[in-house]
Amino acid sequence: MNNIQMVDLKGQYQKIKNEIDSALLKAVEGAAFINGPEVKQFAENLKQFNKVQSAVTCANGTDALQIAMMALGFKPGDEVIVPAFTYIATVEVIALLGLIPLFIDVRADTFELDHAQLEKTITDKTVGIVTVHLFGQCSNMDAIIAIAQKYKLAVIEDTAQAMGAEYIFRNGAKAFAGTIGNIGTTSFFPSKNLGCFGDGGALLTQDIELGEKAHMIANHGQRKKYHHESIGVNSRLDTVQAAILNVKIKYLNEYSAARQEVAQKYDEGLAEIEELILPVKASYSTHVYNQYTCRVINDNRDSLKTYLQDKGIPTMIYYPVPVHLQKAYQNYGYKEGDFPVAESLCKEVISFPIHTEMKAEMQDHIIESIISFFN
Ligand SMILES: *Cc1c(COP(=O)(O)O)cnc(C)c1O
Repeated sequence: MNNIQMVDLKGQYQKIKNEIDSALLKAVEGAAFINGPEVKQFAENLKQFNKVQSAVTCANGTDALQIAMMALGFKPGDEVIVPAFTYIATVEVIALLGLIPLFIDVRADTFELDHAQLEKTITDKTVGIVTVHLFGQCSNMDAIIAIAQKYKLAVIEDTAQAMGAEYIFRNGAKAFAGTIGNIGTTSFFPSKNLGCFGDGGALLTQDIELGEKAHMIANHGQRKKYHHESIGVNSRLDTVQAAILNVKIKYLNEYSAARQEVAQKYDEGLAEIEELILPVKASYSTHVYNQYTCRVINDNRDSLKTYLQDKGIPTMIYYPVPVHLQKAYQNYGYKEGDFPVAESLCKEVISFPIHTEMKAEMQDHIIESIISFFN
C-alpha cells in the first residue's frame, strides 16, 4: 500500500476545494492583504466557536505564546513553570523574554505537566505556569487553577495541539481548551487540527482587558496608529490565511470527529498488544487527537519505527529529547535524571498516522503491520 502519510492535507483540501478557492479568490481580488476584513471576521468566528470574550489573531503559535507573556507583564528574571516534555516553542519564548524556565516533569499517562509537583517547584520568583494540552487533550485545569490561585500565578494554556477539545470541570461544567486559564494560545500551522496554508496563530481570553493588551502588543504596541504605548511586536495573521480559516473553522467539529474515529479504530485494533501503551483518555477532557501517541515499552520503539518505515508506514517521534536536555537550554542547570518521566517518554513514544482523510484499508494495513511487529 502506498501513499500513507502522517497528515493528508491535500485530501482535506480536495473535499472543500470550491469553498476554499472562492474564499481565496475573493481575498486576492479584495487586495486588503494586511488586516483585511477576513482577519476581523476570523477573530469573530474564533471567539464564537470557543465561547470566549476575546480572540486576537497573530502570525503563529510561537508569537502567541510570546505575546501572552508580554501581555501578562512577565519581567526578565521572573520564573515560569513549563513541562520538560513539549514542543520547543513553549520554552523558547520564555528564554527569549529573559524569563527563567522552571521545568517540571510530566505524567506518564496523559503526558501533561504533573500538577502534584507544582507546589514544590514554585518559588517566590515564580509568576506563571504554562500548561500544554499535548497531543489534543486538556491538562487537569481544576488542579492547575487551584494551585495558581493559591500562589497568585498566571496560567497560560498552550492549545496549539488541542483546538476544539473540551474541558470538563469537576462540577460538570464545560469549556473549550484555551479558555480556562488567564490566556490560551494556539497555532494554525497546516498540520494542527485547525490549520491554514502557511503560518497563523491566535490568543483566547475571557479577560477583555488582557485581550486588548495582547492585541496592542501584536500591533507594535499601538492602540492608535503611530502612538506606541508599549514595546510590541509585528505579528499578523495574513488576510489570505484568515480567508482559509473562515472556511475551515466550520468543519472543525467534523475534523475532530474524524480524528476520534481513527483513534477509536486504533484503540480497538491495538488493544491486545501488551508492549504498546495506548493513549490514555482523561476523565476531564475530550481528546481531539492532533497526534495518536503510544508508548512502546521494552526498548522496542526504534525498531518498530524502522519496521513500519520498511512497509511504507510513516511514524513520528514527538519528542525525542526533553527540553531540559536540549543543548540550547543547558545554561539553566538541569541534568539527566532531573525529570525521569519526560526522559523515559522520549525513548518510548511513537505517533502513528492520524488525520481527517484516513481510509479504512490504509488504517487496517497500519494496524496489521503494528500487530505483526509484536508477534
Ligand atoms: C505547533 C506548536 C507551537 C508553535 O506553533 P507555530 O505556529 O509553529 O509557531 C507551540 N506549542 C505547541 C505545543 C505546538 O505544537
